[in-house]
Amino acid sequence: MAINNPTNAPAVSAARWNPKASPRCLGSIESAISASRGDVRIARGLALRSLRLGLSGIADVVEFHRANEGGIQLVDVRGLWRPFPVEYKRGRPKRDRCDEVQVCAQAICLEEMLGVDIPEGALFYGATHHRFDVSFDAALRGETEHAALRLHELIRSGKTPSAVREPKCDRCSLMDICMPEVAAKSHSAKSYLDSAIKKSLSDAPQKPGGP
Ligand code: SF4
Repeated sequence: MAINNPTNAPAVSAARWNPKASPRCLGSIESAISASRGDVRIARGLALRSLRLGLSGIADVVEFHRANEGGIQLVDVRGLWRPFPVEYKRGRPKRDRCDEVQVCAQAICLEEMLGVDIPEGALFYGATHHRFDVSFDAALRGETEHAALRLHELIRSGKTPSAVREPKCDRCSLMDICMPEVAAKSHSAKSYLDSAIKKSLSDAPQKPGGP
């Protein structure tokens, strides 16, 4: 796990305990917290997982905000600290909610790991330098759980869904790997071959007594 610990940012507080949190999870927070800003502690490159959703990954940034209740304790600093995931995107806000779903999945992982409720997080877009708070309401949580279920269905099926070229592809970081234009052309080529084979079979002379 890459840990960003800039030399001008003191390695500060580490997670101590929460009755519902696993010691291993708290230890990983201890390693990842690398900076502080007032009542905010900042962890970078934190490994996340949810056994319930079957998801794992690395969070860009998880802030820990001082809270009156509903947080975890951190070493060498008093009070409770509520996790607040922040996802960084190079581009601009998208028309769909895929970025909100991604940061909500991070919150669900953290809730499971640390045994705390996380009502909000944020998205930061590099192209516009804007940061938006995201409320993890029931609708977004439902959408996120549905996306995780759908992901596992696709993995079980062993089939990669065909890429569909859409305007959002222009802002997608996977564009160079996914190549949706190529996928569309190969799909067209397959359709052409399928119809050509069907046509040649239907044009072929029938054997006497054949079907
Ligand atoms: S480039 Fe591929 S992965 Fe990215 S939005 Fe388009 S189809 Fe989806």
